[in-house]
Amino acid sequence: MANMLEVKHINKTYKGQVSYQALKQISFSIEEGEFTAVMGPSGSGKTTLLNIISTIDRPDSGDILINGENPHRLKRTKLAHFRRKQLGFVFQDFNLLDTLTIGENIMLPLTLEKEAPSVIEEKLHGIAAKLGIVNLLNKRTFEVSGGQRQRAAIARAVIHKPSLILADEPTGNLDSKATKDVMETLQSLNRDDHVTALMVTHDPVSASYCRRVIFIKDGELFNEIYRGENRQVFYEQILDVLSMLGGNANDLSSVRL
Ligand code: ADP
Ligand code: MG
Repeated sequence: MANMLEVKHINKTYKGQVSYQALKQISFSIEEGEFTAVMGPSGSGKTTLLNIISTIDRPDSGDILINGENPHRLKRTKLAHFRRKQLGFVFQDFNLLDTLTIGENIMLPLTLEKEAPSVIEEKLHGIAAKLGIVNLLNKRTFEVSGGQRQRAAIARAVIHKPSLILADEPTGNLDSKATKDVMETLQSLNRDDHVTALMVTHDPVSASYCRRVIFIKDGELFNEIYRGENRQVFYEQILDVLSMLGGNANDLSSVRL
């Protein structure tokens, strides 16, 4: 299998009055079709890592390769195009535009790439049917629930068939029912459509839907575990590693089943 993502020896220090090394020699790779979570106590560097992979932020040293290409080496306009083509983003706070309908939000990546309206319409209905949100397309963001908003955001993230979906705490603002809906949505996109996804989460339930969990602590790789057949067993294993990790007790306060 080809590596979709390679993270090689990434270092990142935030410089200020007191400088802080947020990432230390982080290396791992993700194959096409994998569904992986990154976990760690708060402040361990998860968002920094995701921001560097998504090219929102730059590493001090080390390389990111997405389909063999280092996006950090691209010039501004090529990089914008690369991000729109290759990456799909899902955020904790959904990042939908309130002035657009749910359908218009989902179409946005195709509209920006100037796809033909008939193609856009067809793709929109395809993804909305798959995610069970056809009846929401004409609604505004404030007329639908948090879980529905996040499923719309996921539809927007995958509609242009990017190589890699990057999600930062996608269930962080959701209750347990909506978390289950959103994670089952991501799981089925991975299983049925071979969408490759990397998700940062501090929620062990959400992580248990993934096939692999990478743990980081103090900016360093700590451990990684793979899921077997059973999600409940994987959940217990995730809790075991989290208890070894220690860190902010607050991170475990949101544990829900
Ligand atoms: P996580 O997402 O795991 O909670 P972050 O990647 O947000 O962790 O942060 C890692 C560390 O880097 C933390 O100690 C945080 O305070 C620090 N940090 C994050 N962003 C900045 C920044 N822009 N400037 C200075 N320090 C930062
Ligand atoms: Mg974070």
